[in-house]
Amino acid sequence: MANRSVFRVLLLGVLLLVLMLGYQLRVGYESALSRAHDDAGNLAFALDGQIRAIFRRIEGSLANIAGQLPDQALQANAVEAYRERVSKILMPLTENFPELGSFYVWDAEGNSLYGSVPPAMMQKRASIAHRPGFQLLKNDPSVSIAYSDSIRGSVSGLQTVAVYLAMRDASGKLKAVLTGTLNLANIEQIFKSLRLDKGSVVFIRRSDNHHLVIRYPMRGSDINTPVRNPIQARIDAGETEGRERFKAVTDGEYRIYAFRKLEQFPFYIVIGIAERSALSAWDTNVLYMAGGGGFLLLVLGGLLLRMRREEHLRMAAQQEVETMHRLMNEAVDNISLGFTIFDASGKLVIYNKAYQDMLGACRDTVRLGTTFRDLARLSAERGLYVKAKDRVDAWVAERVRIHEQADGQPLEQELSDGRWVLVIEHRTPSGYIVSNRIDITERKRLEAELKALANIDTLTRLPNRRQFMARLAEELQRVQRQMTQSACVLMLDIDHFKQINDTYGHAGGDLALQHFAHLMRAELRSIDSCGRLGGEEFAILLPGANLEAAQRIAERLREKLAESTLDIDGKSVALTASIGIAALHSADVNPDAVLKRADGALYEAKATGRNRVVVEASMA
Ligand code: GH3
Ligand code: MG
Ligand code: MG
Repeated sequence: MANRSVFRVLLLGVLLLVLMLGYQLRVGYESALSRAHDDAGNLAFALDGQIRAIFRRIEGSLANIAGQLPDQALQANAVEAYRERVSKILMPLTENFPELGSFYVWDAEGNSLYGSVPPAMMQKRASIAHRPGFQLLKNDPSVSIAYSDSIRGSVSGLQTVAVYLAMRDASGKLKAVLTGTLNLANIEQIFKSLRLDKGSVVFIRRSDNHHLVIRYPMRGSDINTPVRNPIQARIDAGETEGRERFKAVTDGEYRIYAFRKLEQFPFYIVIGIAERSALSAWDTNVLYMAGGGGFLLLVLGGLLLRMRREEHLRMAAQQEVETMHRLMNEAVDNISLGFTIFDASGKLVIYNKAYQDMLGACRDTVRLGTTFRDLARLSAERGLYVKAKDRVDAWVAERVRIHEQADGQPLEQELSDGRWVLVIEHRTPSGYIVSNRIDITERKRLEAELKALANIDTLTRLPNRRQFMARLAEELQRVQRQMTQSACVLMLDIDHFKQINDTYGHAGGDLALQHFAHLMRAELRSIDSCGRLGGEEFAILLPGANLEAAQRIAERLREKLAESTLDIDGKSVALTASIGIAALHSADVNPDAVLKRADGALYEAKATGRNRVVVEASMA
């Protein structure tokens, strides 16, 4: 079924489409994520250089200061004397580098000595003794540099990180501490210039305690707090760079992260690109594809559904047709009429068993698709039809003509096996020819019987008057057409029949009539015909006989009758007849004219003594 295979191809197409879309989306998704990973990695790498340069600069500046400070300047009582000189070292640093804040020099106890501020602004008795950075340097001689948490400067109001540098003597004893501050606003500016997408972040954490130093965009509440996430674990494990993808604990955003430890410094930088922005292009693709694919699927699905529905309808219709067809075949087979339908081109399209049965020995010629002409010819050639004997071509031509006329006129066909069939053919409005055949053999037999009965006298079994007159009329025609030379008719009447009836009763008379009929039949030639004209009057037709021959036959018959013995009730009864003869003439207008002449001769025979033969007057 073509429809079904188209359906399968479409279904396969839909599946392929779904697979292709799925694959395309998957590939797009993967590549969007991997691009985001690359972007994050590249940004982290670029920032790493810039941020390290800043840290290097501040550490370098502090080392530079330490190198220029004479030991005497670190004595509390020498501060006044050195203030001017130290200021000259500290001030330019602050002025030349915007990311660097103020520098200070503190004594071994954390008390302020010098600052990169004008001497007037220098606070008296300021101290960093309690600051964790200072305490670290003071308590651990192996530590030379320390960093503070992120601090909001009390004077400047700026977010900063303080860097502590220890100055020690040869024994490692703390001589003084130098501090410098790092303006985080500057780093924030660098982060800002990255123009990250919405939801993306960049931040720096300390690698020792994972405290947040700076984050962009800023979330003040997170500053100086640690976090637990896969990056922290990997930094703790000693990794210096890497990538991660997870949902941030702080804001619940899914990000693709790249982290990088700042070499030599206790910080690491993290770039987190929000997945939603990384996938935004992909999302659009998904929308387009889903839209386009959905539309296609809808169209294909609609098409498939429609095809399915049509297929169902078609199958239901086909089933109905098949059921109707079966029903019709059963019905047609169950009617006793022979039934056929031929299409407009003459081909047999429907027939039933009764039709086949009617064809008898020719039933095997019946096949769907055979034309009427071929069917007629085949069975005619096999001698099925009496009328087709020795004239098959003519018969077939005539039969086909009648068939095509299909005017509903009954056609009787005599079959050679003795059966008779009545055919009635009709043409339908659409040009088909429907034929009904009925077996009329029995009707024909009854008809023949009736016909015979109508023509035969029941007492003597001889043709009756009507039959004899018909036969006589035929013979007269032959004479008139000069197909035969001559013919004569005898009229016979039993003498004194009344007496027999009177003597022996009516039954006895009947026996006499039968006796006479029997004798007559025995004496006649096969071409002769006889009949009972009524009562005890009989007639005989002698084709081919002239008056002399007829007279001879009549004499012989008269003698035989006279010599014959009729036995009634054990008594021998004598029986004679008088006979009148007339010849058939072409001038005779009808058979009665002939009979009338014969009757005239008979009358004369009666009149002249009975038991004698008289030939018609004109010929005598
Ligand atoms: P004729 O010699 O002049 O012919 O004398 P007939 O007695 O034969 O006279 P007619 O011809 O007048 O008589 C015929 C009789 O035959 C009259 C009728 O009763 C009788 N008859 C007619 N038909 C039948 C029949 O079927 N059976 C018998 N038994 N008698 C019949
Ligand atoms: Mg009579
Ligand atoms: Mg008589």
